[in-house]
Amino acid sequence: MRLDILTLFPAICAGPLGESMMKRARESGKVDVRIHNLRDWATDKHRTTDDMPFGGGQGMVMKPEPIFAAVEELRTPEARVLLLTPQGSVFKQATAHRLAAEAHLIFICGHYEGVDHRVVEALVDEEVSIGDYVLTNGALAAAVVADAVIRLLPGVLGDDRSAVEESFSHGLLEAPHYTRPAEFRGQRVPDVLLGGNHAAIAKWRAEQGMARTRRNRPDLLG
Ligand code: SAM
Repeated sequence: MRLDILTLFPAICAGPLGESMMKRARESGKVDVRIHNLRDWATDKHRTTDDMPFGGGQGMVMKPEPIFAAVEELRTPEARVLLLTPQGSVFKQATAHRLAAEAHLIFICGHYEGVDHRVVEALVDEEVSIGDYVLTNGALAAAVVADAVIRLLPGVLGDDRSAVEESFSHGLLEAPHYTRPAEFRGQRVPDVLLGGNHAAIAKWRAEQGMARTRRNRPDLLG
């Protein structure tokens, strides 16, 4: 997969996408992440990317010209263009699985009041929000979406079953995990996990996943 990120703040994306599993995925060629500064497509000597809103009001709006120029230069025939915006459909694990099947993604990150709406109308295939709150700009949101998608690419997780068995994959939360020591400050690991009976462990995990979902995320149960 190729992923181009267009942002005014490349360093915000570079940190999270340059560590740990994301770093290894990039170094091993499983994903080709290119983080671009949108100012590189501005044409005036001040590298301007924003202007005042028509109709008045607070804040600035990102100009269409640099965004159109960047997307038109980077776009390939298979590219899917996403805008990170609090007004988009809320990003879910199912969205991550769907996007992980794409060959080329381009993320546009907004700033200020957002982007000129002609960008949405003419360039964007999909508007994506990472939740019902407002961030100062789209770079953090882009890094979140990129991480969730990249870890689902074949071979990125050490064990590809991890992505099948984790929270949300079956519509529920995952069961609790424990490691050594078996007893810590008076708290014992459940006996079933120490017994080696795989059928009993699977049953316990299914029950615990359901109990945690009911307690923390009853909305997932409909
Ligand atoms: N004026 C916009 C509104 O009320 O819908 C909010 C703009 S926000 C301050 C600036 C930028 O941050 C947005 O253009 C978007 O790229 C990004 N952003 C903020 N919250 C986001 C969210 N929940 N999900 C994705 N991107 C977000």
